Amino acid sequence: MTTRVGRRPRSSLAGLVVALVAAAGCVVGGVSEPEGQEPAPQRPDGPASPDGPASPGAAQTRADGTTSVEEFQQDVTDAKAIAERYWAAQFRASGERFRPIRRVIPYQRAGEVACGGQPLPRNNAVYCSAGDFIAYDVNWSVGAFRQVGDAFVFYLLGHEYAHGIQARLGIRYSYTIQQELQADCMAGAYLGDSVRSKALRLDDGDLDEFREGLLAVGDDPDQPWFAEGSHGTAEQRTESFFRGYERSLEACGLT
Ligand SMILES: [Zn+2]
Repeated sequence: MTTRVGRRPRSSLAGLVVALVAAAGCVVGGVSEPEGQEPAPQRPDGPASPDGPASPGAAQTRADGTTSVEEFQQDVTDAKAIAERYWAAQFRASGERFRPIRRVIPYQRAGEVACGGQPLPRNNAVYCSAGDFIAYDVNWSVGAFRQVGDAFVFYLLGHEYAHGIQARLGIRYSYTIQQELQADCMAGAYLGDSVRSKALRLDDGDLDEFREGLLAVGDDPDQPWFAEGSHGTAEQRTESFFRGYERSLEACGLT
């Protein structure tokens, strides 16, 4: 599949900064949580169903510059498919069997989806290791998509998918910031390698969209790096993402 990350108009990030800093807990359901627990979405197939089948060709034919929900859903579907293909190839190269993340679940209301018995809040995206799924507030994500651009969707999905890979590899750091910066690096590697392999084509402005998105998700500079839930400052997250983007997984300290 050839997917094109089209360019989108960008607007002020002021509101987005407020929205994205709420996404502090983007990996929940630690190793102590019961494994194999089912997610509990009340509306598993709500209005947004980005987990649906890919429609080949749609990515090539859609018009640039639009920011419709349908386009967002297609981007989530494409990003998931590319991440699966990418990580399957990495695991295969290491002689390991790859198990894709079980589901990607959009939600609209606080508590609509739970992870290990913990209700998920609005304005967030998480990887839940207890149920091996990614869940995201669809309204919040579409808002970010409209503000930053479509590249943000590929980053967000790639970052959460990376948490699923960390879980598969048994990587569990003492501090959340280590876990998060590595996930940013892995998201960068999946995107950079996919561009190099031509699974993904970037348009002018997409790299700026990554930069602007990362700027928006950085921790408050006053937040101690060792605090639970710390993800890293905008500078640290940008550095980690582009280290992976430019130098691939060797730069992410996976071994
Ligand atoms: Zn994270």
